[in-house]
Amino acid sequence: MFVKSTLLRTPHAFATRNEGISTNEHTKSLNLAFGRGDERETVLENLKIFADEVGFKPEQVISLPQIHSDIIYKVGEDNRGEGYFKTKDIRKGDGYITDKKGVVLGIKTADCVPILFEAEKDGEVVAVGAVHAGWRGSVAKIAQKCVDMICREYDVKPENIRVAIGPCIHKCCYEVGEDFLQSVSEALGREVAEKFVIRDGGRLVCDLVALNRCLLINCGISPENIDVIDECTCCNPDKYFSHRYSKGHRGTMLNVIYMK
Ligand SMILES: [Zn+2]
Repeated sequence: MFVKSTLLRTPHAFATRNEGISTNEHTKSLNLAFGRGDERETVLENLKIFADEVGFKPEQVISLPQIHSDIIYKVGEDNRGEGYFKTKDIRKGDGYITDKKGVVLGIKTADCVPILFEAEKDGEVVAVGAVHAGWRGSVAKIAQKCVDMICREYDVKPENIRVAIGPCIHKCCYEVGEDFLQSVSEALGREVAEKFVIRDGGRLVCDLVALNRCLLINCGISPENIDVIDECTCCNPDKYFSHRYSKGHRGTMLNVIYMK
């Protein structure tokens, strides 16, 4: 039902697509997002199944509509339920930080990169963060922004932050066009772009995992404090929802982290 990082100490989970109740071929079976073809009740039942297994209550989650931005919110108890139980007049964004216990940060993905953060002080986790990094969010440096916000808001140092990069599309399957290289060059400069948008035989592919790893190291995260779940969503369509593999006809996974 989910995979975990061996590095993070606080409760977290990266959902797979299995062990839910969705019966549509494309959302089978643990679809955790509205608007993908399942009834609202089905999605909420899946959320309950997932939450029970991980150890939180569905009402504790915040997971807003995502827009491939670099917008990150500092959230607290009042924001719980936003995105699943409160869906009208809510904000949009792609990341969260909190130092409040029991606030479950939720990132929805199906190829994009889910990145979870935990910050420690005096041997205890004092804050957590989560971001959604597709290529737009990645080149907008949402991962770095999250580290900066955690350090600023909770007075911790980058060397005391641990990060887990979850299942996402890897460079084996993320073929892109010349226009893509151009867009990344405009955002990060040609030299950086060519490190992560690379020629592989006749193909041009993008390595979003390496790009985010590099951005994290650049802002002071120790390499040994970055864990990568080494599974490509597109290579494992029976285990994960993949936007690319399914040509967009797919369910959505949820990735969560919180403090107990
Ligand atoms: Zn792959």
